[in-house]
Amino acid sequence: MKKHLTCRALGMKCGFEVHDESEAEITVTIGDHLKRAHGMEFTDALRRKAMDLILLDPV
Ligand SMILES: [Zn+2]
Repeated sequence: MKKHLTCRALGMKCGFEVHDESEAEITVTIGDHLKRAHGMEFTDALRRKAMDLILLDPV
């Protein structure tokens, strides 16, 4: 089952989204994106928030 996370869900005005089957992969990808695109440090708190915001792709 594929899952996704949008950068918008984390409060950014940004169209970036990650689709993957692995929550770990999704958080790594979004963490990398936050650093590169928004200059944000991907802290443990932010990682947990990201985990909470991962949704299943609509079927
Ligand atoms: Zn973004």
